[in-house]
Amino acid sequence: MEDSYKHRGKRRALVKKLAEKGIRDPRVLEAINNVPRHFFFDEALLEHAYQDKAFPIGEGQTISQPYTVAFQTEKLEVEPGMKVLEVGTGSGYQACVLMEIGADVYTIEYNKVLYQRTRKFLPKMGYKPKFFQGDGSRGLPEYAPFDRIIVTAGAPSVPNSLISQLAVGGILIIPVGDSSTQQMLRITRVNEKKVRKESFDYFSFVPLKGEEGWK
Ligand code: SAM
Repeated sequence: MEDSYKHRGKRRALVKKLAEKGIRDPRVLEAINNVPRHFFFDEALLEHAYQDKAFPIGEGQTISQPYTVAFQTEKLEVEPGMKVLEVGTGSGYQACVLMEIGADVYTIEYNKVLYQRTRKFLPKMGYKPKFFQGDGSRGLPEYAPFDRIIVTAGAPSVPNSLISQLAVGGILIIPVGDSSTQQMLRITRVNEKKVRKESFDYFSFVPLKGEEGWK
């Protein structure tokens, strides 16, 4: 698949729209501008790639809306070289955005079909995060601590395992709520004992499954 002048133009228009909606961090906007989102879509569905909408990727799951990806990434305050855990690999698009900013990405997906598909597909685009299959609601204890953790599925509450896998100064961004809407929360580990919680806008994600998600 090619990344033509036309695709790049549509991507620039999407980035402009995200800036108008309030995304400010130039590194986030640049990352969205650099990842060819149409590569994640079937040929017949290409016109959906640069709309600011979530889209089905099979297995009842979605590629998140670009605004949601940009919002979560901005609130995560990622710096190059940081070790980042993503829970919910899905299509792999969010992982690519994080890698464009220079993050060292560990990504875990519950669904075996999506895990296999994305693990094969992303390296073909030149993106090589560390892929894991399993229940990400429990994090990845053997690779902790993480500087940043991003959860891209809606949780009923903040999993204790994820809080415990945050490095001091680390940030967790996670949508928490019921099955229809969730509030975006940011948890910052202030020191070994203390975390700070902030609340942002409401979003709508597919459910976080597993031990510390929806059982
Ligand atoms: N980040 C993805 C992207 O860029 O395409 C979007 C993810 S989609 C909104 C949510 C994903 O979380 C789904 O692929 C779903 O299978 C996955 N998921 C749900 N519960 C999970 C869990 N406990 N551990 C890991 N992945 C999970």
